[in-house]
Amino acid sequence: MTLPSRNGDIIMMKADNEIISYREMCDREEVQTLQRGMNYRLSGRHSVVLMSLRHNAPYSDRVDSNGLILIYEGHDIPKTANSPDPKTVDQPEYNPSGSLTQNGLFHQAAQAYKQGQKSAEIVQVYQKLFNGVWSDNGKFRLTDSWMEKSGNRKVFKFILELCDKSVGHSKQRMNIEQNRIIPSQVKMEVWKRDKGRCVECGATDNLHFDHIIPYSKGGSSLTANNIQLLCARHNLLKKDKIE
Ligand SMILES: [Zn+2]
Repeated sequence: MTLPSRNGDIIMMKADNEIISYREMCDREEVQTLQRGMNYRLSGRHSVVLMSLRHNAPYSDRVDSNGLILIYEGHDIPKTANSPDPKTVDQPEYNPSGSLTQNGLFHQAAQAYKQGQKSAEIVQVYQKLFNGVWSDNGKFRLTDSWMEKSGNRKVFKFILELCDKSVGHSKQRMNIEQNRIIPSQVKMEVWKRDKGRCVECGATDNLHFDHIIPYSKGGSSLTANNIQLLCARHNLLKKDKIE
């Protein structure tokens, strides 16, 4: 999003940790619907991954301790009337037709990057908080993948590294410092506590998850005590104040 700054310039605000509706998410990706967790080169552009970390979420995705790396689990075979329980069979690399599945496409891209054959695939990550409430986690680089044992079967794991945008002047750098992955449990707790409103003005649109103490100053991304909801305006006012 863009907001006019005090001196009239337009500054780009980082969208990461911005809260959006399902419709806004689809609009950003220029699609009518977005249902699948993994979408290789959606609309011929970047790839898109949907995360859901609720306890009943079917996949076990993890965030590493410094909040810069997501470990994303691949997808099971589709559930159909005739198929075995998807949780009892290996996650597929190929479709029955022989074409690559989404797992296969992401795996191939990650391996090509590792072998120096191409640059890292750019993956836009969205995180589901509640029905209709999503968080834009920004863009990541797909840098590794493998299959590993999980119980009696094998699953895919994908490494997604938060894109380093540490270029430009201090305001942008400040935004990067703010930019750490906030676990879903923390986001859901903050959303409930702040009742889906900016804590300063009560606005219910253009909301962001804000670090009360910036990450760069030792504030944590891992506890709801250090995260609050702010609208875009108050998010920006606060950043100006910190600088
Ligand atoms: Zn506000």
